[in-house]
Amino acid sequence: MKSKEGTDNVSLVGVFERLQGKYRRTMAEAFGQRLVPMHNRTPIISFTFDDFPLSALEVGGALLREYGLAGTYYVSLGLLDHEEAVGRICSRLHLNDVLAQGHELGCHTFGHCDAWDTEPHLFEKELIKNQHALQNFLPGTTFKTMSYPISTTPRPTTKRQTGLRFACCRTGGQTNNVGTVDLNYVRSFFLEQSRKDPSVIWNLIDENSANKGWLVFSTHDIATQPTRYGCTPEFFFEVVRRAVDSQSRILPVIGALNEVLAPPLNLPKSTPTRHAADWSLA
Ligand SMILES: [Zn+2]
Repeated sequence: MKSKEGTDNVSLVGVFERLQGKYRRTMAEAFGQRLVPMHNRTPIISFTFDDFPLSALEVGGALLREYGLAGTYYVSLGLLDHEEAVGRICSRLHLNDVLAQGHELGCHTFGHCDAWDTEPHLFEKELIKNQHALQNFLPGTTFKTMSYPISTTPRPTTKRQTGLRFACCRTGGQTNNVGTVDLNYVRSFFLEQSRKDPSVIWNLIDENSANKGWLVFSTHDIATQPTRYGCTPEFFFEVVRRAVDSQSRILPVIGALNEVLAPPLNLPKSTPTRHAADWSLA
């Protein structure tokens, strides 16, 4: 009887969590939008790594560099050198390596705070703390883009406040961005969720090419024995290879955003346009 009740409880918890997740995604998507039309002339693909476990640079970054490509590393500077669920997090010196290799460093809050569960004013403090820590480590460097940690779904207030600080903010969503993009909620596809059925990824690359979209891939560690949040080097390499074969432009998030925001060809050159690279923190 006890196990039966336990099973029922687990089932009810599962239903509740799914409903809760759906509610949060709906709220996060609907409010605090910063919608812009996309002007990129070619399909774009970005590779991003959350939490910045060391293997994401040593293995994932090395694979990208084999093709002359760069990615975006979303780091929580309060986790440096920690052993986390995604493996060992990078050290301070790796921050230099990321930039020296042409990658982008992005913000993931200082303490890796859940985008929904953290009170908006505390979440904002975490963003500021991460930015200050970066300036201590690498003077003159600022985060231009960020990704929402853990639930990836910000509360409406958090979404609005965070959007004021960055050129764009990345979520999940398991899809690409086509036609218009919410700069406060740029969709991405977590690779580890399709490790067993990669055809979903190949189809999405094709669809992104056909629709001139912006497809952002996300993951964590890249290891021979990956955590449940990462993938193997072979799997990652195959995604990179297919991305390259798709003739898409492959750019870090801030570079991709510049393409997305580029003025359409028929606009006169005097039309004022704000590019992502112009973004600076207030
Ligand atoms: Zn994270």
